[in-house]
Amino acid sequence: MQEKKIFVIGGGASGFFAAINSAINFPDCKVVILEKTNNLLSKVKISGGGRCNVSNNTFDNSELVKYYPRGEKELRQVFSQFSVTDTIKWFNDRGVKLKTESDGRVFPESNLSKTIIDLFLSEAKKRNIEIKLNEEVLSIKKSEKLILTTKKNKFTTDKVICCVGGFHQSKYYEFLKILGHTVTEIVPSLFTLNIKKDEITNLMGLSVKNGVIKIVGTKFKIEGAILITHWGFSGPAVLKLSAFAAYEFFKSNYNLNVSISWVNNLNVEEIAQKLKSFSAEKQLIANSPKFEIPKRLWEYLLVKSGINLKKHWNEISKKEINNFAKNLFDDVYYVLGKTKFKEEFVTAGGVSLKEINFKTMESKIFSGLYFCGEVINVDGITGGFNFQNAWSTAWVAAKNN
Ligand SMILES: Cc1cc2nc3c(=O)[nH]c(=O)nc-3n(C[C@H](O)[C@H](O)[C@H](O)COP(=O)(O)OP(=O)(O)OC[C@H]3O[C@@H](n4cnc5c(N)ncnc54)[C@H](O)[C@@H]3O)c2cc1C
Repeated sequence: MQEKKIFVIGGGASGFFAAINSAINFPDCKVVILEKTNNLLSKVKISGGGRCNVSNNTFDNSELVKYYPRGEKELRQVFSQFSVTDTIKWFNDRGVKLKTESDGRVFPESNLSKTIIDLFLSEAKKRNIEIKLNEEVLSIKKSEKLILTTKKNKFTTDKVICCVGGFHQSKYYEFLKILGHTVTEIVPSLFTLNIKKDEITNLMGLSVKNGVIKIVGTKFKIEGAILITHWGFSGPAVLKLSAFAAYEFFKSNYNLNVSISWVNNLNVEEIAQKLKSFSAEKQLIANSPKFEIPKRLWEYLLVKSGINLKKHWNEISKKEINNFAKNLFDDVYYVLGKTKFKEEFVTAGGVSLKEINFKTMESKIFSGLYFCGEVINVDGITGGFNFQNAWSTAWVAAKNN
């Protein structure tokens, strides 16, 4: 009988995970990885600042899916088959110990992405996975079997797992569109915000733990830490907003107003009320910041509200209180462009979620073709969620032959 073949397109995170698990599940099948470049696992190498943030300790799947602006509903079916717990066990069983940092991010204990790369390369070798470099797949066709065409070769196979990752241009998905697949609009996600020249950027490096950032005139609103940078704003809340509102930012060409509340959990009236309650105090207002706001930011907001830094609490007028409360609650900045976040960036958009069966990761349009990783219209926020998507979807795609 002829040997069954499984071809994996793409030698990145999801490609290797799919190939290794296919070889584990079907030891009698021939597993081949076709990689377009002459580099393997290049994103894994630079990921997490060279430390590879492999996952996040969000063990409850109904919580986990909330970190995916696109794919929340569909990933439930995937994580119920291969979860964060399964991921940690998978690596542990193969001698790679993982550790969790205080913010929930999971890394190899070695703090080196090389540990993950070495594991994948040695597992691939151990399981006789053939790796072919400089083989860009240009088309997938079907006759009796599936036929993959690259510039140099034609390969016949029984199953194809497509793990080509995310691109900034949709032309790289052309070979999938020809099959009838829809590729949703590709736009950047996970970026920091540049703002129109403003003195607040002199406070670069300062951050507020419990802020709120929203896009003016929309429903997009994220709570969390906000960091002031020399070009604008960054920090977890900003990155999360960039992911959830990726299409809103794109639509505006990254020119829109954001409003920051430096005080979480209080509305403008409540902030004004609190400020009034300090008016019996005798200290300089500038010297007694409230709401855990750093002193220099507090002074900046006082000046912005027209309050003299030499004023004491018992000298503040009602108008000044209202101005100050407004700036503490609704401090508006004009966004002028974005900057790549150096630790992690991904693209929103990819193969339409409606065209994939998430129980198996098989295409609903072209049988025998499976998808995993960033090629799908799924993306997560920063924190290890993008790799978790790569591992879980790859594991499911590797389940059936
Ligand atoms: C700087 C940076 C840091 C990151 N850090 C983290 C992190 O710490 N944690 C986290 O969770 N996520 C991180 N990410 C995101 C994460 O790297 C990706 O989500 C993940 O690599 C996606 O894996 P993938 O296998 O789907 O795609 P990729 O890793 O992009 O792999 C796709 C592969 O397919 C190949 N290919 C493409 N087209 C073809 C073709 N036609 N034929 C053959 N081969 C093809 C490509 O050359 C590539 O090797 C980071 C991303 C970047 C850019």
